[in-house]
Amino acid sequence: MSADIFEELHDEKTPPNYSWFNGKDWVSSTSGKFTSVISPIDHSIVGTVPIVTQDEIDASIKQAHLAQKAWQEKTLVDRGKILKLAADWMREHELYLTSLLVREIGKPVDEAKDEILRSADMIDYFGHEALHMTGEQIPSDAFPGYDKHKISIIERVPLGVILAIAPFNYPVNLAVSKLAPALVTGNSIIFKPPTSGAISGLHLTQIFRKAGVPDGVLTTVTGGGSEIGDYLVSHPGINMITFTGSSQVGQTAATKAGMIPLLFECGGNNPAIVIADCNPGTTAQEIVKGAFSFAGQRCTAIKYVLGLKPELDRILPMVVKITQETIHMGDPRSPETKSVGPLITESAAQEIEARIRMAEKMGAKIELGGVRQGNYLEPTILSAVTSDMEIVKIESFGPVVSFIEVKDMEEAIAIINSSTYGLQAAIYTCDEGTGLKIAEKLDVGTVWINSKPQRGPDHFPFLGIKGSGVGMQGIKYSLEAMTRLKPVILNKPE
Ligand code: NAP
Repeated sequence: MSADIFEELHDEKTPPNYSWFNGKDWVSSTSGKFTSVISPIDHSIVGTVPIVTQDEIDASIKQAHLAQKAWQEKTLVDRGKILKLAADWMREHELYLTSLLVREIGKPVDEAKDEILRSADMIDYFGHEALHMTGEQIPSDAFPGYDKHKISIIERVPLGVILAIAPFNYPVNLAVSKLAPALVTGNSIIFKPPTSGAISGLHLTQIFRKAGVPDGVLTTVTGGGSEIGDYLVSHPGINMITFTGSSQVGQTAATKAGMIPLLFECGGNNPAIVIADCNPGTTAQEIVKGAFSFAGQRCTAIKYVLGLKPELDRILPMVVKITQETIHMGDPRSPETKSVGPLITESAAQEIEARIRMAEKMGAKIELGGVRQGNYLEPTILSAVTSDMEIVKIESFGPVVSFIEVKDMEEAIAIINSSTYGLQAAIYTCDEGTGLKIAEKLDVGTVWINSKPQRGPDHFPFLGIKGSGVGMQGIKYSLEAMTRLKPVILNKPE
């Protein structure tokens, strides 16, 4: 793997030691400490990344504030041109970035390629959408008792220095969804990539740098979340945090952050409701894709299916059959592998396996899979699951889907609404009216009718409620979230 523009990121050794990006240069950390990035495919070391020190974080944030002032003064068009170049660089290096992503996080090739290309499209879209962001003017006589002498001139201004923390499962896409809107609206960024995915994050940094992001505006700090995370999120120099990761880490980080704007997307544990009149073929196909893409390591993956007995009796065998025919577990580098490669770590796979065994003990039946080898877990389908089992109470970030029989739709709705998560839900029915009625009653961020839950299209609003997050994302919404309104009120002379 080699591509010229990335050469200065690391030394010549095998495996390479990567540098962190101090906003200006690729440097080693004075800590002298490194974290290894281990490939989930064969447990080889992809490279090592430095663990930055608190002093290095302090200096980066200070420098980011200084650089932000000049960055904000550039025109929107100039900032947009830099984004456009970054998207072009990504496309140009698509193959290299894809193979790195496959090796670093074990994502099957097709899905890794999609992530890179979708990220480039997203950068472009952010650049275009930002051009349409405008302020407004409000005259005072629009409120009773006021005359026309006051006028509020409202601008959108950047927030300052934004801390962006990305998760391992989309280390490029969910970094781009933070970096692009923050940059185009004139903010500086301290970017903390996930440890599994850090090297892809460093490559992304280089792309923005080569595209022309000025010194100090984008800094990429590396090191484990448990080592540098608390210091970053509670740093007084941070003006906003945009975070994607588990609900557990998100909740702790939100508490430590204090009174600053937060845009958090956290864990999901997404249900699907099957109604009697659904199209069985479409429903089963969507459930399979929803449950097993990227081995179920997606926040929007379907984790459990709710329905009355006759519906489950009809859909479940179809889901099993389609899974057997279309989902193939294996080495993610192989074109034969469809969706299910390794899980990110063996401990992640062990944890889910333990929940499967516990569910079995409590009466659940394994319809397919259930076997783990190292960090590979077979696509697993469980039936006779009840809502009190851990396999459905806690997000199981792997290829497992559980079928839960309910006596009526009220019970299905109650199960979903009692969850501590609230990201997405799917409803399968041929009667849109029924779908809309149930959708209204669900306490989740987004409801999909006759589709698997998913994040995109990326210009749609995307949000989680309860333990699944806070704030609104999506192209326009992220741009708004990373800026604030600033009214200046002119008192016109009589
Ligand atoms: P994670 O373990 O919570 O880590 C997420 C990020 O937080 C990583 O960069 C991690 O760094 C960092 N981190 C860890 N401890 C921290 C701390 N104390 N303070 C600040 N940052 C800290 O999550 P993950 O395993 O990478 O990702 C999977 C989770 O993300 C799942 O729960 C999934 O549902 C969720 N997710 C949600 C969405 C959504 O849109 N709602 C999208 C994708 C993923 P290290 O890697 O160095 O530990």
